[in-house]
Amino acid sequence: MFMEYDNNNIFAKILRGEIPCDKVFENDYAIAFKDIHPQAPEHLLVIPRRAYVSFEDFSNNANDEEISGFIRAVGQVARDAGIVGTGYRILSNHGNDGRQEIPHFHVHVLGGHDLGGMIPRN
Ligand code: 5GP
Repeated sequence: MFMEYDNNNIFAKILRGEIPCDKVFENDYAIAFKDIHPQAPEHLLVIPRRAYVSFEDFSNNANDEEISGFIRAVGQVARDAGIVGTGYRILSNHGNDGRQEIPHFHVHVLGGHDLGGMIPRN
């Protein structure tokens, strides 16, 4: 299923500087900022600079340089947050069953305490 990219999604507006964010990282491939509703002491969002709807779009259509640049950015964001030693979780929601809310590909980086089981049982 192909979903058209919506240029007015919140993360597109953050990328254009139209709405603020608490930015923690940026390079040619990605920017990262704090989630507005953190679900862990550290809850960061890493997004590619270019327009991809979700992981499905990114993994299918981004070139190798963008993919490697993005993955390295995710690792750097976790390192910068100081959560490598204690551990962290990365996740990315796609589509309805994943309950993706914002249709610009993003990876959540969560850490800062014991995150519990991987999938809630309710
Ligand atoms: P999704 O469900 O799409 O994987 O996650 C979207 C995330 O974006 C949620 O965790 C939500 O709290 C976060 N979010 C939604 N709107 C904003 C915003 O305007 N600024 C920031 N920093 N995070 C947002």
